[in-house]
Amino acid sequence: MDKLIPKLQQLTQNLWWTWKPEVRTIFRDLDLNLYHKVHQNPMSLLKQIEPAELDQRAADVDIPARADRAMRQLHEYLTPVTTWGLTHAGAMRSRPVAYFCMEFGIHESLPIYSGGLGILAGDHLKSASDLGVPLVGVGLLYRQGYTSQLLDANLWQQDVVEPFDIADLPLVQAVDRHGEPVQVSVELPGRKVAASVMEVQVGRVRLILLDTRVKPNSPEDASLAARLYGGDQRMRIQQELLLGVGGARALRALGISASVFHLNEGHSAFALLERARYRIQEDGMDPHQALQEVASTSVFTTHTPVDAGHDRFPAELAAEHLMPLAEAMKLPLEEILGLGRVNPDDHGSPFLPTVLALKLSRRANGVSALHGVVSRKMWNHLWPGPVEAVPIGHVTNGVHLPTWLATEMNHLYEEHLGVAYQCSLTRPDMWTKIQDVSSAEIWETKQVLKARMMRFIRKRAADMRERLGLPEIIPAPLDPEALTIGFARRFVPYKRPDLLFSDLDRLDRLVNDPGRPVNLIFAGRAHPADNAGKGLIQKVVRITEDPRFRHRILFVENYNIHVGRVLYQGIDAWLNNPQRPLEACGTSGMKVVLNGGLHISVRDGWWAEAYDGENGFAIGTGEVHADQAIQDERDAEELFRVLEDEVVPMYYENRNSAGVPRCWVDQIKRSIRTLAWRFNADRMVQDYVEHLYLPAAIGSSCQMPPP
Ligand SMILES: *Cc1c(COP(=O)(O)O)cnc(C)c1O
Repeated sequence: MDKLIPKLQQLTQNLWWTWKPEVRTIFRDLDLNLYHKVHQNPMSLLKQIEPAELDQRAADVDIPARADRAMRQLHEYLTPVTTWGLTHAGAMRSRPVAYFCMEFGIHESLPIYSGGLGILAGDHLKSASDLGVPLVGVGLLYRQGYTSQLLDANLWQQDVVEPFDIADLPLVQAVDRHGEPVQVSVELPGRKVAASVMEVQVGRVRLILLDTRVKPNSPEDASLAARLYGGDQRMRIQQELLLGVGGARALRALGISASVFHLNEGHSAFALLERARYRIQEDGMDPHQALQEVASTSVFTTHTPVDAGHDRFPAELAAEHLMPLAEAMKLPLEEILGLGRVNPDDHGSPFLPTVLALKLSRRANGVSALHGVVSRKMWNHLWPGPVEAVPIGHVTNGVHLPTWLATEMNHLYEEHLGVAYQCSLTRPDMWTKIQDVSSAEIWETKQVLKARMMRFIRKRAADMRERLGLPEIIPAPLDPEALTIGFARRFVPYKRPDLLFSDLDRLDRLVNDPGRPVNLIFAGRAHPADNAGKGLIQKVVRITEDPRFRHRILFVENYNIHVGRVLYQGIDAWLNNPQRPLEACGTSGMKVVLNGGLHISVRDGWWAEAYDGENGFAIGTGEVHADQAIQDERDAEELFRVLEDEVVPMYYENRNSAGVPRCWVDQIKRSIRTLAWRFNADRMVQDYVEHLYLPAAIGSSCQMPPP
């Protein structure tokens, strides 16, 4: 046994284990309760578990043999003979893509993410790793740790921060060619802020994280990167400078010569100025030529069609912070500020990192076909002329299948699509084999996952009720036989988590039909500063306390990767009813589809291009009324109609002698066959490589003229 701990510790050092279910279960099987208590962090688990307990458990569940196998698999993964990336992106091998993002959601044990943007970035890294695409992630290390959502007695969201030990993360100090630890610094008003460069291994991909808790920094600067999206505008612009400028400097200090900078959202836009500064100051390049070169080798992805979703820094704040860069770039400050203004000559107008990123990246994209259309319209004024000529394309998001897929579904796919099916996720012909799987097998698999989800949320709900002193629910909540629909995402008004509550009597008839009952499960957080979002949570939870709904509608606290995974895997159907076209893409529904659930959604984001009439359900036609109140009313009416006339009958009718709903399962098969190959992150990363990274790597200017 003495060699077991070092071996397990070694496994924790590459986050590869997070998307290998058979490796995840090694840690889980050591001590299930402790594993969840420590946020599924195996390093904490190995530290806290009693040695005698570890020996006993290890022997009981064959840990040594499983660990040996995992080590061999990891070694094979890290030393591939061939990969998609070697064949298709070999040109970038010595000069990888640098992928910048403010947050990375890779696993619940690494708390440097907040929501969808971070999860997408995590999935991007994992698929780049699986495909062998040369890519380095660049982000910030937030030390605040895990934040749990707990409701108080007023059903108001509290964000509880739990202390955690950064030593329990698989981080190592990044070193330069000579083995020396790398530190960078960034000029901020009146001082320089230092950051040490840490790194974490995500399969074959390195993720570099800047940490400001280092020696020469003042206490304020040391906590500059303590919290994601915390603080005021001043802190925000400083964090963004740290990420962009510091990140670009870190790459250089590590000897990484990136061929392409990919900015995932505008937060890292200052990286482009730093890129140009280096060429001007160190290589003596002409400033305007340097800006041209940076633009031709940079890719920018915008994520939000909501105006308030774009940072907007007051002119003075921007001027104060961009002065050192402007000087070093040998350009007038006004010219640099103009790059972030909608109208460069409009002195005093705010500075938008999104505008800077659009002007300094020749290739830009939205995250679904519809979002591409909306983004071109939104930024048309930057390129006066016909809207179709605005140089913003789209790459629709996708999800990393191994991260989100239930083990049981993986077995089903391995059996019917082939053991190596994960190597061909983007091939439509492979997925057609799902048609030949017996309906009973799909249905039974789903029932196993649903039972697991039910157990999990009942326990969560019981814990919450006990804490708040709420009465026990009698009869027990959530009839396991009932059609169960989920809604989990950030609580913000445009996502309309309360749309179904616009007519409580109709909702009562819908969920309490004795022959065709419906369960509804809600989960989601509001941003800590968003009282409107918190109000929506309160409203939803209050309604769940109505005696008519208590045993049918539940709110699950603390939505995060773990809670999400359980819901996506177990749910029968997933509800998405945002105000069109404000959901840029949305990805949770894709995770549900992979696990044999059906998507019920407004034709927005990915669903506008994915829905074909028979692979799920659509709410509304996609037309939008100018008056939002009228649109809300129409959508609510349509939502009820789709549930009453389409979803519920399909679930309960046409069952065979074994109780399998034939049409429902046919729909599941069709949904997997038509959607799985497109809406996964391998396809997304391949699209980025072929349409954006490779052309940018050679600096081709054929596609998009600069504004
Ligand atoms: C997938 C995911 C999201 C993003 O889902 P949307 O549909 O874009 O809201 C957010 N949070 C978690 C935990 C997720 O797993």
